[in-house]
Amino acid sequence: MTSVRVDLSGHSAVITGSTSGIGAALAEGLAANGCDIVLNGLGEAGEIEALRARLADAYKVRVLYHPANMLHADQIADLIAFAQKELGRLDILINNAGIQHVAKIEEFPADRWDAILAINLTSVFHACRHAIPLMTAQGRGRIVNIASAHALAASPFKSAYVAAKHGVMGLTKTIALEVAERGITCNAINPGYVRTPLVDSQIADTARERGISEDEVVRDVMLYAQPTKKFVEYSQLVGALLYLVSDDGANANGSAINVEGGWLAK
Ligand code: NAD
Repeated sequence: MTSVRVDLSGHSAVITGSTSGIGAALAEGLAANGCDIVLNGLGEAGEIEALRARLADAYKVRVLYHPANMLHADQIADLIAFAQKELGRLDILINNAGIQHVAKIEEFPADRWDAILAINLTSVFHACRHAIPLMTAQGRGRIVNIASAHALAASPFKSAYVAAKHGVMGLTKTIALEVAERGITCNAINPGYVRTPLVDSQIADTARERGISEDEVVRDVMLYAQPTKKFVEYSQLVGALLYLVSDDGANANGSAINVEGGWLAK
């Protein structure tokens, strides 16, 4: 857990894709600072309920769960309406849900392209367009999009992901300009490699596409990209998030906090 502290009591947040990995860590970071939260994401019902109950018990905040699938616009609309109805307001929206597929462009399955664009990019559009009127009425809001170092740089064999994440960065900047005078900010956090289920599951595919071992993928592809030679820790992303959602973050707008060990400096 990060040492950064912000008083978020009385605030509420929706975090898409928060049943696993980065989203779960960001949700916990908000709850630990007093924020009521709506979890979202796929997974086994018992495990999701255990996560929900653990956060509610540990931090004495309201923790709800909504099962919206980011492939479906109507379910995303329902997720935002659910937060407003159950928690009475929506202060923070974190667009985090995402998937990955690693393959050569000429062999990239069209259905994987469509799903990655829908979940990683189009869902951000839908969630924002429903959240912004609520935030506008409140006169304050914070939208944080978990993009990626791949929002600003490419890697081979990740065509859909890189295209979607570059799109998220463009959408972030566009929304920031539109909401700038309403007390709302829209920013991105761009992580480098974080050791989550999403990353673990692409090690074997990357090894196959590049014709190298899985150990070589970790050392020569993933950590090669990051000059620190270290995976990004959850707490380092939570610290960046807490700055952006705080009052001190009011003039960070349309920007990105890159937490990628210097990858993008090269
Ligand atoms: P993860 O696989 O651990 O978690 C992904 C989350 O998204 C899960 O909660 C999953 O249930 C949810 N999700 C997937 N498809 C969904 C759908 N159709 N509807 C609703 N929820 C859905 O992955 P992660 O590594 O924690 O990734 C989280 C975000 O961070 C993604 O947007 C990813 O692109 C981004 N990111 C990850 C890394 C990394 O190294 N792990 C680096 C940069 C950016």
